[in-house]
Amino acid sequence: MEQLWAPWRLEYVQSAGKQDDCFFCVAAASDDDEATLVVHRGEHAFVLLNKFPYAAGHLLIAPYRHGVSFGGLDENEILEIHRLGAQGLDALAATYSPEGYNLGWNIGRIAGAGIPDHGHLHVVPRWGGDTNFMPVLADVKVIPEHLAVTRTRLAAAWPRTN
Ligand SMILES: [Zn+2]
Repeated sequence: MEQLWAPWRLEYVQSAGKQDDCFFCVAAASDDDEATLVVHRGEHAFVLLNKFPYAAGHLLIAPYRHGVSFGGLDENEILEIHRLGAQGLDALAATYSPEGYNLGWNIGRIAGAGIPDHGHLHVVPRWGGDTNFMPVLADVKVIPEHLAVTRTRLAAAWPRTN
């Protein structure tokens, strides 16, 4: 019975389930950034476009590790996710000139998390004419640009660091 609760067991279960059913893990392991909509890769976390964006340029910033949410991030992940968020604001500002941004974590399915087992930060650009923070996803007016084009533009505008 004790072995069921051993930490190594939990890690095994988390890693064993990660590849097939989690698009963050698929994108993290892929070397095709265009196909997986990865905009930028850091050391501990990476940035990709939301396939179901609330607005053009809606970014998701996730740790490479599967199975951790907001409270489970380690120090390196916390720091890099914050920095990537700030870089994302710069890239969005240079590319689309939003008038504002919403940054946030959806924790649990009831809060809107599509992939609750792989925590991620949303970065949503805002313009004066757009709808509220959670607009109807079918409202194509707020998504005038193809995702692949958006990815290419933001990747090119990503600020250079060190
Ligand atoms: Zn995952």
